[in-house]
Amino acid sequence: MKEYTTKEGKKIILDVDRDICIGAASCIAIAPLTFGIDDESKAYILNESIDDYETILEAAKSCPVSAIILKDENGEQIWP
Ligand code: SF4
Repeated sequence: MKEYTTKEGKKIILDVDRDICIGAASCIAIAPLTFGIDDESKAYILNESIDDYETILEAAKSCPVSAIILKDENGEQIWP
């Protein structure tokens, strides 16, 4: 889990459930500045303040196994 500040300064909490990630990489295709893929073919979270909120949300929604968990700064779950 990582506290992440989006490009427009919105604070969110972002997590990748690496147990269910299947390395489909659609998150990386949509938000390559937020997500990376490691040598186990699992996604991980990169730097802060680079992608905007809508891009990150779109990337989370694109995950075929809903492995990306997005919460607001108060911990309320936004996705999935
Ligand atoms: S889209 Fe989902 S399954 Fe694919 S790499 Fe990203 S987190 Fe993993």
